[in-house]
Amino acid sequence: MDNSRLVYSTETGKICPTCQKPLSKCTCKKKKSKSQPNIKIDGIIRVQREVKGRKGKTVTTVSGFEINADELKNLAAQLKRRCGTGGSVKDGVIIIQGDHRDTLITELNARGFKAKISGG
Ligand SMILES: [Zn+2]
Repeated sequence: MDNSRLVYSTETGKICPTCQKPLSKCTCKKKKSKSQPNIKIDGIIRVQREVKGRKGKTVTTVSGFEINADELKNLAAQLKRRCGTGGSVKDGVIIIQGDHRDTLITELNARGFKAKISGG
């Protein structure tokens, strides 16, 4: 039968546009979804000065950690104490009030992190 394939495809419904196979047999998506890095984690800690808020308050953000929330909180507390200022942790990023890039780089490197200044 010449049209057996066509019938089969129609019955199956959706065909993958990439491999032309029925979606139940398609492996394209599986391959793709395996590695989807949306956060760049390359072992480098980025220390960046940012100006936030209407009053233009300067903060220093520290991002790129591969440590858990408790460790991050603990580290943030130590860094705040070192800089003698306040700060917080948000979405895995440590935010230190004021421009303390040099102090933070020194402290992070002393703790075994590979920290570098990012941006301006
Ligand atoms: Zn496919």
